Formats: sequence, C-alpha cells, structure tokens
Amino acid sequence: MGYAEFHRRSLEDRDAFWAEQAKLIDWETPPQQICDNSNPPFTRWFVGGRTNLCHNAVDRHLGARGEQPALIYVSSETNEERVYSYRELHSEVQRFAAVLKSQGVGKGDRVLIYMPMIAEAAFAMLACARIGAVHAVVFGGFASVSLASRIDDATPKVVVSADAGSRGGKVVPYKPLLDEALRLSNHKPGSVLLVDRKLAPMEMTAGRDHDYATLADRHQRTTVECEWLESTDISYTLYTSGTTGKPKGVQRDVGGYAVALTASMKHIFLGNAGETYFSTSDIGWVVGHSYIIYGPLLAGMATIMYEGLPTRPDAGVWWSLVEKYKVTSMFSAPTAVRVLKKQDPAFLKKYDLSSLRALFLAGEPLDEPTAKWIAESLGRPIIDNYWQTESGWPILTVANGVEKKASKFGSPGVPMYGYDVKLVHESTGEELKGPDQKGVVVIEGPTPPGFMQTVWRDDARYVNTYWSSIPGRQVYSTFDWGIRDQDGYYYILGRTDDVINVAGHRLGTREIEESISSHPNIAEVAVVGVADQLKGQVAVAFAVVKDTSGLTDEAAKLKLEGEVMKVVDEQLGAVARPARVRFVTVLPKTRSGKLLRRAIQAVCEGRDPGDLTTIEDPTALQQIKDLVATR
Ligand code: ATP
Ligand code: MG
Repeated sequence: MGYAEFHRRSLEDRDAFWAEQAKLIDWETPPQQICDNSNPPFTRWFVGGRTNLCHNAVDRHLGARGEQPALIYVSSETNEERVYSYRELHSEVQRFAAVLKSQGVGKGDRVLIYMPMIAEAAFAMLACARIGAVHAVVFGGFASVSLASRIDDATPKVVVSADAGSRGGKVVPYKPLLDEALRLSNHKPGSVLLVDRKLAPMEMTAGRDHDYATLADRHQRTTVECEWLESTDISYTLYTSGTTGKPKGVQRDVGGYAVALTASMKHIFLGNAGETYFSTSDIGWVVGHSYIIYGPLLAGMATIMYEGLPTRPDAGVWWSLVEKYKVTSMFSAPTAVRVLKKQDPAFLKKYDLSSLRALFLAGEPLDEPTAKWIAESLGRPIIDNYWQTESGWPILTVANGVEKKASKFGSPGVPMYGYDVKLVHESTGEELKGPDQKGVVVIEGPTPPGFMQTVWRDDARYVNTYWSSIPGRQVYSTFDWGIRDQDGYYYILGRTDDVINVAGHRLGTREIEESISSHPNIAEVAVVGVADQLKGQVAVAFAVVKDTSGLTDEAAKLKLEGEVMKVVDEQLGAVARPARVRFVTVLPKTRSGKLLRRAIQAVCEGRDPGDLTTIEDPTALQQIKDLVATR
C-alpha cells in the first residue's frame, strides 16, 4: 500500500485502521470501542481496553529478548557506561516500583521526577507506569521557582531526585534547588527519594528525605505486578517548552500513547526489535519521553540514554556511540547539529556509521545550510519531523516504513496517518486548499492516539487555548504558520505570533532569518518585529557571527550589517530588510534550544520580557538589553 492510501484509510476508515495498529501492543482486555469522539475535542481512544505501558515496554520482551540490551546508559560526564538487559531493567523497575509503593504511591498518584540523565530516572518513569502512578518529569535544568510551581501544579505524593547532575565536567547540585523549591511550594510531598551519585553533599531532612539505594536494598528480589489500567487513564503530565509564554501542562493517556508510539517506531522511525535507537534529547522533554524511554522499548529495541555534551571529550562522542552500539536510528535537534557544525567535520568521518539508517531531527525549523551540512557529512538520510509536546509523536514527516519517500529540503514532510492537517486563514477561518498559500497549520478532530487528552486539571484551558483561536471552526491550532506545495509537502514558516507587519506587508520573521543565515559569516540569527511609529513594525535582527576576528570596531560591524541587509534585499526584497542587524555572542533560548523571540521583542520594545523560567542563559538577554540601550 502506498502512503497516500495509508493516510487516507487512517482518516476515512479510522476505526479499522487504528484497530489494526492496536494489535501491535498487548492488551489485558481488548478495547470495546476504538475511537470515542462523542464529546469533542476530548477524543478517547481504545475505550474499554486495559493495558499497561511498562508491560509493553519491558515485560512483553522478556520471553524473546530477556538477555538483549534494553537500556544503554552512557555518561561522558562521569565516564560511566552500563548496559541493562531487558531482564535487568525488569528487576530494576520492579525494585523502584516496590519503593514507590512503600511510600504509599498507588494508582493515579503523582510522582514528580526531577533528575539528571541517569538510569534511575528511566527506572522511576517505568515504575510509575507499572503501578499506574502519573509521572511528572521536570527538566533537571530548571531552578527552584519553576520547580516549585510545577510541584504545586502536580501535587505529587513523592518527589524523586538526585544529589547532582553534571554538565561540561562541572557538578550541578540538584538537592539545594529542590530543598528551596519545597520551601517555596504550597504543596508538600510526603517523601523525597534521592539517588546519591556521590557528586555533591546532601543535607537530608529527617522523615521526608530517603536514600533511594537504602530503600531499594530491602526489595532485592521483589515482584511487583503491572497494574492493568484503562486505556484512557492518565500516564503522565509534561510541560511545553515555554517558547511562547507560560508553559502548558500536557496530559496524556495510556493505551492511545502506547499504540501511537509503537506504530510510529514501525512506520516512521524504522526501528526493529533487537536494534539500537539513540535519541540525544533529555527525559525532561517530550522527545525524551517518547523516543528515549517509551518508543524504543515498546519496539523491543535497545535505547541509549546519554548524559553529557555533544562535544566532550570531543565532537566525535555521539558518532563513537553510533559505531560502538550499531545505532540504526538516531534522533536529535537542529540546535545540536549547529553546535557540531562549528567543530571539525573530521570527527564525523572517524567512525563507522554504516549501521545508521537515518538521522531524525525535530524541535525547530531545520534550515537548509544545517540540513545540507549534516546530510553531506554523515552521508545518511536526514529526516526532519515536525510535532509538539501536545501531539506526543510526529505530525508532519515522511513515513519511510510505509513507503519510501524522499524528504525535501526545508520541509518536514506530509501529514502523518491519523492527522487531518489543514491550512486555514488566520482571521476568516477559510480553508486554504490551493498550493503555496500561507495559513495556520491546524488539525481537524478527532485527534489521533497519543495526542494530549487535555491540559492537566484545566479542560477549559485546553478548549480555550487550542480549539478556539480560528474563527468559525473548532479545530486544533498548532500556532505555527505553514505552506503546502503542489506535492502536499508542508513548510513551517514560524510561529503565528512571529509574524510582523511592516508598512502593511506581513512577513514571517522565520523567512528573514533563513535569508540572513545564508550569509557565509552568520552562524545563527533571531529576527523580531519591533513597534515603529512610521511603519507599524520593523524587523530587527540579532546575529551570532561565525568568524569574529574581523569585527574589531564599529566600522567593521556596520560593514557586516550592510552586507547582511543586502542579502535580504536581494532574496526577499527591501520590505523585509531589517532596520538593524546587531551582533551578539549568544542568543536567548529556552532550555530545549528554541529561540525566545518574544523575550527579545519585549526587550526591544522596552517591555517586561514575561515568564523567563525556561531561559537557558540569562546573559544572552542581557547582551540584547545592553545593545538596545546603546541604540
Ligand atoms: P510553548 O508551547 O510553551 O510556547 P514550544 O511550542 O516551543 O513551547 P514544544 O512543544 O517543545 O514547545 O515545541 C513545539 C514547537 O516546536 C512547534 O509548535 C514548532 O513551532 C516547533 N517545531 C518542532 N519541530 C519542528 C520542525 N521539525 N520544524 C519546524 N518547527 C518545529
Ligand atoms: Mg507550543
């Protein structure tokens, strides 16, 4: 069957299509109803079915591949490397589950996981799934205030954490931040489990804090059976990246997620049981949930969990793992590739990468120079895929497991099965059916399995935020601009709030960024719209320069600024020319590597930059403040 037919069936023959996909996992009780969309937009999948994510990710494989690798833990920070077979993973997870139970955790209780990238974080997530507890993983890079607000939102019975993480060889203590967060939060969890890596001293609060290893010792050979859950029960909550504002708490189900991920491993990620998957993300993000932990394990693969930078001990570290563990599918983000692009490409040639079928990239637009560089350096297909925390798995990409299809540079691909993707006019809501028309990317319900159920504890916010922004239509808005070519490939043009209006011309900041990036000396750039009395708005660019050796004085900077403006003039026309191009050493980004354009814009307009809890490096915004102050 060709992909077009596969996709058509997924929408027109929805129940039959997903009933077939549902057979990819084990059910204790098979579903009675495949899709219940009687109360839109709250779609329920595999109603009446009972299953368990941990059973499908771990126990199910014990018979056929108990001794095969399941979790490959590698830390280039502490130089640890350990391979857990499915059988070992099974016993570690049961041990963790037993400890959670001993702390009173049961079905539906929340467990907040604030951990560095260590194997225990994976055990904790799977243990929650096993006993039906709802995990709420908070990215380890967050500090006390963000952590406290998430503790209050999740109201966990137990918090799982560690003494410290490590980044670039420097110990980053977690426990003091956790203590401060617990002091700030209104909700107080009953107990805190701490994994002691012996990296930093910990002050233990008696009665509340417990050393995980000590408790785990009491459960050496424990059996903790999987709790069979309703398909529509909650598996976890997770926050969006906070690129466009206050992060939203995404709530996900059990059965739909298990089916969606298992199917995606087969149709999209080309993963087979017994092979190795390597996602360079962090468990604190949705990619980490779906494609470090659950997806690969559901597929019976070995999954690499990596703690460390892509450049330490050198820029070949990832590729050495690909060679050593014969990685077949790898998943990373454009931001990481840009980091590697600044390093010596010889590191890519040093290793045997012949096992690799493809490198999947997601999280932000994949610009052509980055895509071409990595495709040429790797000599392997690069597969862009577009999705969101909300969707849990790709919305747009190419499903090479169904039909081999080439990617097009600049396009993440076509709508995935189960997704009825449309482009609509932002203010009239009219569907844009022709090619090359620019509109908002929306999804017509019912949403597919794996998609968020609702905003955690806030059904009204789910409806009001996502389903009410397009006039006259109840559709899910991605809040991204897109365009579709005549072959049905989509191109993401940026966020709907990243459009600027210069003297009546509507311009995507993303298009201007693409153009500026094509200047050979620009490594990275952010363009924002800034209020202007004359023109309404003007574009202002902040760029990171590759080779700064020539930029010694103002005159040199002005010269480069002029060159960059000329590139935009030539490619897009003078209307798109930024009013200013300023040079910085680093751009403000979220901790997941996304440009914080709204914060830059606010600073340029002299406004309060708003929620900055997810910013990676606050000095980046300071540089922009300083530049703006000097004009
Ligand atoms: P928030 O919703 O809190 O503002 P966020 O949207 O950055 O944060 P995520 O769910 O991590 O949170 O990111 C999803 C967004 O990332 C998409 O809506 C899109 O803007 C962008 N994105 C993801 N993958 C791609 C891709 N392959 N190409 C272009 N953009 C992408
Ligand atoms: Mg978003």
